[in-house]
Amino acid sequence: MHITRNRDLTESLATFGSRFKPVMDWLLPAHCVLCGMVTRASTGLCLLCAERMLRRGPACPRCGRALQSERICGSCQKSPPWYDEVIYAAEYGGAAGQLIREFKFGHKLYVGPALASLLLQRLGSVEQMNTDVIAPVPLHATRIRQRGYNQSAELAAYLSRHLHVSLQSSLLIRTRATAPQTSLAEKQRRKNVRHAFKLNQDVRGKNLAIVDDVMTTGSTVNEIARVLKKAGAAKVSVWVVARA
Ligand SMILES: [Zn+2]
Ligand SMILES: [Zn+2]
Repeated sequence: MHITRNRDLTESLATFGSRFKPVMDWLLPAHCVLCGMVTRASTGLCLLCAERMLRRGPACPRCGRALQSERICGSCQKSPPWYDEVIYAAEYGGAAGQLIREFKFGHKLYVGPALASLLLQRLGSVEQMNTDVIAPVPLHATRIRQRGYNQSAELAAYLSRHLHVSLQSSLLIRTRATAPQTSLAEKQRRKNVRHAFKLNQDVRGKNLAIVDDVMTTGSTVNEIARVLKKAGAAKVSVWVVARA
C-alpha cells in the first residue's frame, strides 16, 4: 500500500515535471557560458558558439597537427608516437582556451559539460569506433588536493555517460608530482613525465581512449600511451578538447 502510494507520487511528480518543463525553462532559462545568450542547450553552450569553436580543415590523423592536406605529418613519419590517433574539438587559442582556463583554474566546474559536449560533437562520427575503456589523464594526489578535482576526469565521466563506454578513472595513477608541463621546453617535458604513471589494470587487447583537456606537445599522453602499449593495449586514442 505504502509502496504503491510512493510510486504514484513519484509518477505524478515526473508527469508534473515533464508537463511544466517548458514553463520552467521559460522562467529560469539557461545562459550560454560563453556569450551569455539564452540557450536551450542543456550543456550550457549555445549552438552558435559551439559551431564557431569547432575546428575545421585537414590535420595529421596521427597527432592532430593542422596541415594543408589530410596525411601523416613529417614528424609522425620520422618518429611515430605511441598513441594511434588524436581527436580534438577546437584550437586552444581563443574561446576554447578561455573556457578551459575558467574550468581548470577558475573553479568553474559548470563549464565542464560545455567543453565535453564540444568534444562529443567531434566524436559523433567515431562513436561506432571500437572503444572498450575511457580513462582520464590522472593528476597527482597533491594537485587534486590543491584544485579540488581532476578536470580530465570530469570530462571523461561526461563522455562515458553519453557514449555508453566504460569509465576507468583509476586505470592509471600518477606516481610522481611532476612540474607543470607549461613551464618546460619540449625535451624537458618528455623527461619530466617519463615513468610518472603506473598502470592499475590489465589492458591486454583493449582499445582505450585517454581523455584530457589540452594537448600541447603531447609528451604526457605519449608517455601514457607508451605504458599502455607496453602492457599490451591494442589501440590508444587520445581525446582532447583543444590542441595548442
Ligand atoms: Zn553562446
Ligand atoms: Zn602527425
